[in-house]
This record gives sequence, C-alpha cells and structure tokens, in this order.
Amino acid sequence: MGFLAGKRALITGVASERSIATGITEAFHREGATLAFTYQGEKLKSRVEDLAGQVGSKIVLPLDVGKDTEITAVFDQLKNLWGGIDIVVHSIGFAPRELLSGKYIDSVTREGYAIAHDISAYSFAALARAARPLMQGRAGALLTLSYLGAVKSVTQYNVMGCAKASLEANVRYLAADLGAENIRVNGISAGPIKTLAAAGVKGFRSMLSYAEKVSPLKRNVTIEEVGNAAAFLCSDLASGITGEMMYVDAGYSTVGVPPLDESAA
Ligand code: NAD
Repeated sequence: MGFLAGKRALITGVASERSIATGITEAFHREGATLAFTYQGEKLKSRVEDLAGQVGSKIVLPLDVGKDTEITAVFDQLKNLWGGIDIVVHSIGFAPRELLSGKYIDSVTREGYAIAHDISAYSFAALARAARPLMQGRAGALLTLSYLGAVKSVTQYNVMGCAKASLEANVRYLAADLGAENIRVNGISAGPIKTLAAAGVKGFRSMLSYAEKVSPLKRNVTIEEVGNAAAFLCSDLASGITGEMMYVDAGYSTVGVPPLDESAA
C-alpha cells in the first residue's frame, strides 16, 4: 500500500507532460492518492483530462487563480464530490514575459509587479483559505513550488524572485495560522527544469547548464524527483514538518564557491 493511500489531493498547475505538477501527479498516484485536477483556460483542458484519465481521475475543474469565483467554485465542487480534502498542491507561477529579461530595475513595472505577486504568491493564500474548511478534522497538507530566486538574486528572474520571496513568506505565515488545525504548509524549492513556465525566463538554457556544472550532483533534477519529495511532504511521513522550504536542486543552493578549474572539479 502506498504512503498516500486514502488521501484526497487536488493538483493545480498541469500544463504539459513536462510540468512539475505532472511529476507530482505520477508520484501521488503511485503512492495511492485519489486525485482531482484543475486547468487554466480551455486550451489546457483536454491535456489535463488526458493526464487525469491516466491516473483514474474524472475530476477536472477550470481554475484561473486570478478569479475568486473560480476558486470558490473548485472547492464547492470538491465539497460536493468528496466532502473533505487532505492535500492541495499549488504549482502555479506567472509574470508578464517582458519583465523576465534584462535587469530587474529596468524591467519592473507597477502593473507587472502586481500581476506576478497576485498569481504567483497571493493565490497560495487564497487556495489555503478556500481549502481550510474542507481540511477540518483530518491531517491536511498544503504545498507550493518555489525557486532559489526567492532568496538570492538570479539573473533575469527579476520580479518572479520578489514574488517567490512573498510566496515563501506565505508558507511560514499560513503554517503558523493553520498548525493548530493540523494543517501543514510547506514548499519545495526546485532546481531549474525545462517546462513551459521556465521557457519564459530569458537565458534559461544557460541557467540549466550552469546548474549542471556547479551542483554537487553534477546534473539537473527531474520532475520525478520533485514529485517524490512532494509526495513525502504531503504524506503523514512528514507529520512533524511545517513552515519549511525543502530544496530539491541537486544541492546547487548549498554551494558557495564551485571548483574553479579542472583539477578541483
Ligand atoms: P508549467 O508551465 O508546466 O506550469 C505552470 C502552471 O501555472 C501552468 O499549469 C499554468 O497553467 C499555471 N498558471 C499560470 N497562471 C495561472 C493562473 N492565473 N491560474 C491558474 N493557473 C495558472 O511550469 P512549471 O515549471 O511546472 O511551474 C510550476 C511551478 O514550479 C511554478 O510555480 C514555477 O515557478 C515553479 N518552479 C519551476 C521551476 C522550473 O525551473 N521549471 C523551478 C522552481 C520552481
């Protein structure tokens, strides 16, 4: 029996077979969770339905986290279908593309800053608030996805770094508020992975090859590896862990000075 057997989980953020949410889906399914999905916009609907079908789920609901009515509708429907919910995975990020190239100081705008924070950070709090009543009397778990750009400057990541810093603060504040209700809130800071969202960051390919060179494991991570860590964090195996950011990045974030010449590599 898998370590998520008996758990009901909502997974957001599936956009392609390369999405981190797809890796999370595979791990959750393998570990026995019952799954529901959301999709953003009609274009993604059939793709998400296909993935849902592969893991035996018929629950595929529209959700644009910029719209309060859609957030409410998702959790109303889950209440009707399931009664309660154990896990919500927030695998959503967005900033206008023109803000993700060049220097932060030149690219940032009031509007772009607001959009990035609304969709990438506030939305986690909004989902947590909507999920809260459905998590009462169970061992709830909320999980989000962040990146190193939250805590270090990362070239061309720009406003997304600010939004991820806010998202990571959300993890800690939500954990503090919800802990007494036995709802845990954690995040995974993933290393760079080639996905649709990542393609929006200028110079992403160079970031991938740099991370491969510098990280202790000498490679990049996969969506399967992030999925496995997500399954653990959302399971009762992690019952003592909340308010935490877990790095799944082949160790990249732990390096101060990498080997500088061939002899030390
Ligand atoms: P992805 O493009 O596959 O997924 C991003 C998802 O966000 C998509 O499914 C998209 O539909 C969704 N989304 C965007 N705006 C939305 C909105 N308004 N309402 C609802 N959904 C919306 O890319 P991914 O890399 O799998 O991204 C998932 C998460 O992982 C993001 O938060 C991203 O910042 C984070 N992350 C990615 C990397 C990486 O290198 N790929 C590294 C660390 C963290």
